[in-house]
Amino acid sequence: MLKYHLDALNVLSTPVWVVAPDTETLLFSNTQAQKLAAGRSLREMRSGFFSAVAQITLSMYLPCLQNHEDVVEIWSICPSGEECMISCRAVLRELETVGEVLIFEGISGGAAAAALKASHPSAYRPRKHGFYARFFYTTSAPMLLIDPVRDGLIVEANLAALRFYGYDHEEMCKMHTWEINTMGRNVLPVMSEIANLPGGHKPLNFIHQLADGSMRHVQTYAGPIEIYGERLMLCIIHDITEQKRLEQELEYAAHRDALTGLLNRRQFYHLTEHVLPTVLDFCVMLVDADHFKHINDQFGHQCGDEVLIELARTLEANSRRGDYVFRWGGEEFLLLLPHTNLDTALDVAETIRQAVVNIATPGLPGFTVSIGVARHLQNESLDAMFRRVDEALYRAKNNGRNQVLVA
Ligand code: GH3
Ligand code: MG
Ligand code: MG
Repeated sequence: MLKYHLDALNVLSTPVWVVAPDTETLLFSNTQAQKLAAGRSLREMRSGFFSAVAQITLSMYLPCLQNHEDVVEIWSICPSGEECMISCRAVLRELETVGEVLIFEGISGGAAAAALKASHPSAYRPRKHGFYARFFYTTSAPMLLIDPVRDGLIVEANLAALRFYGYDHEEMCKMHTWEINTMGRNVLPVMSEIANLPGGHKPLNFIHQLADGSMRHVQTYAGPIEIYGERLMLCIIHDITEQKRLEQELEYAAHRDALTGLLNRRQFYHLTEHVLPTVLDFCVMLVDADHFKHINDQFGHQCGDEVLIELARTLEANSRRGDYVFRWGGEEFLLLLPHTNLDTALDVAETIRQAVVNIATPGLPGFTVSIGVARHLQNESLDAMFRRVDEALYRAKNNGRNQVLVA
């Protein structure tokens, strides 16, 4: 019964071995697998010259296979009297009458394909370099061997690289480095530059495209390496997409206010230190929500937060390109208007005041703002300017709120 089912695997062009994980017995090899193994036992294939396995005992793989993690082993096979390697991926399957089995499928294009085509001896002969080849294939870091002279052709890729980029060995080894790098052919001069550095270089960051079209931020370590008399480049690829995302998140968090997403006060000082010295004519505007405490008291803090977000969006929508909007603190916002005279600043402030009056968001209470406006005076310190704008806002409040006053 079992044999009847498994015989169907003989039609596959890839070798397949079915193994009982607990007893480590080989239950079945398809025709292709028998050809490659050439009489070798499972134990011999898993412990031969090129073999590399993560677990000596097969049952140790069960937890990760149940978790759908990738398990790959490199076996030593002997299809035409000469030992060579084949990479096998293991999956866990339930077979009627037998129970759980491990199915090892030969996946590496290079050696296995060459071995199957015995009449075309492989140009890639890892035998003499067994240790290094094994290291290259089994490391979990994606690695590519690139030929800078042949237009950046990828001449070899390890299993981790195939898995990372999502190509099979044959596809990958027809591609050029500029086809996966978003820099395109501009990467070639970088490549030849690196190829001339005897000791390699500091890691470089690129964006690489995977087979499914998605983009990953990668850090690559590349260095010249001489193999078979050819001067190639060995590239080790480190996926830093997640790290980049966290960096961007941290950068965003450092510059922005968490509630409204506006620039924070720290950014104002950063800007005034680096940008403003070149801007002579600018105005500032201090916008403060009126009776905001009442909104919190009456409608709850959550509702207060939503009002602040709404106010932030209104400030952004009614400021001009080139203006900066900051959450100054609490229910106070600051606008910085570069290259702006006082009349224009007053117009912007009035537009904002009106826009706030006109906010009609379902579920949110209506509210107003008071605004102080000041034009920066020549040689005036920021502190002195803020004293003036604060004072203008204070007067607007005392004057009945919902108004714009100039300092
Ligand atoms: P005025 O018209 O004089 O400005 O009165 P006001 O009530 O707006 O001013 P006051 O300074 O007395 O109160 C400001 C309130 O804003 C107090 C504080 O709890 C509230 N507040 C500050 N930050 C936040 C926030 O992030 N969310 C919410 N919901 N409330 C906040
Ligand atoms: Mg207020
Ligand atoms: Mg206030």
